[in-house]
Amino acid sequence: MSAESDKPILIVGSMAFDDLVLPSGEFPDVIGGAATYSAIAASLFARPRIVAVVGDDFPASVISDLETRNVDTSGIEKANGKTFRWAGRYADNLASRETLKTELNVFADFRPKLPPSYRDSPVVLLANIQPELQLEVLDQVRAPKFVAADTMNLWIDIERPALERVIKRVQAMVINDEELRQFAGEHNIKRAAQAILSLGPERLIVKRGEYGAMLFDADGIFFVPAFPLEDEVDPTGAGDTFAGALLGQLAQLGTVDGGTTRRALLTAATVASYCVEGVGTTRVRNLTVKDVEQRLAELRNLVHVE
Ligand code: AMP
Repeated sequence: MSAESDKPILIVGSMAFDDLVLPSGEFPDVIGGAATYSAIAASLFARPRIVAVVGDDFPASVISDLETRNVDTSGIEKANGKTFRWAGRYADNLASRETLKTELNVFADFRPKLPPSYRDSPVVLLANIQPELQLEVLDQVRAPKFVAADTMNLWIDIERPALERVIKRVQAMVINDEELRQFAGEHNIKRAAQAILSLGPERLIVKRGEYGAMLFDADGIFFVPAFPLEDEVDPTGAGDTFAGALLGQLAQLGTVDGGTTRRALLTAATVASYCVEGVGTTRVRNLTVKDVEQRLAELRNLVHVE
């Protein structure tokens, strides 16, 4: 693993204010959003190019901070109006959460227009946002080598046909277990996985929170543990951090074969574990490649036998 590179990865997704109700207290106006978390994680390995929209209430300092960490922000549109806002309340054990509010705000009228310099992106992460916007971004990329998409229960509920069009056009889907079951109408994970794979993607990555993640592809099933944490603070964005770290590594290495993907999944689980240790992006923002390497060695030991 080496530090950030100039290898591009295109990321579309939400940039947000999150109002979080955590067991440790209430945290309003936390900077979040799927694109924000994914780009911070991907920037450990590659040069993210963000496509998103923020309102006039969004702090310019957050965007300049992204720039200092090797993120291309020229595709972030600043619109008149309010930034996307999501509010969620977590259960005491942090294992489940309830959405209290989703306000699309400036995302409601957003038509993504890729800067010309973004169009040749070889690796694309369609992080969580309306599936129609994911499709519009994909339409503007010339010949991507590897596209992965994430989604959320809301889009399965209200935009399923568009979401299915997304799934048909990507090489990999990244989704959490609850959403996979909801999409498939099937509780068994192995059978539910078929509902996605039968639509076309070569790979399906199922995020299972504290139970790790599973990869389904032509080579079989691969399991990645979650790093056991002592201090779990805020799981918000851990899934986006996981996807950003995974795709960032694939962009950096320029290869997407099964073995590379499996190795990258271990690192992605490691990076995502850090996310949970702080509110919002506080912990992932301060992460170094060295931190990741240390914890990755511990994670590997969890599943290694002589
Ligand atoms: P995660 O915990 O990985 O599912 O991601 C949480 C992030 O997703 C938060 O920072 C939210 O701002 C963002 N988010 C929540 N709901 C949506 C939605 N419907 N579309 C896009 N992003 C969302």
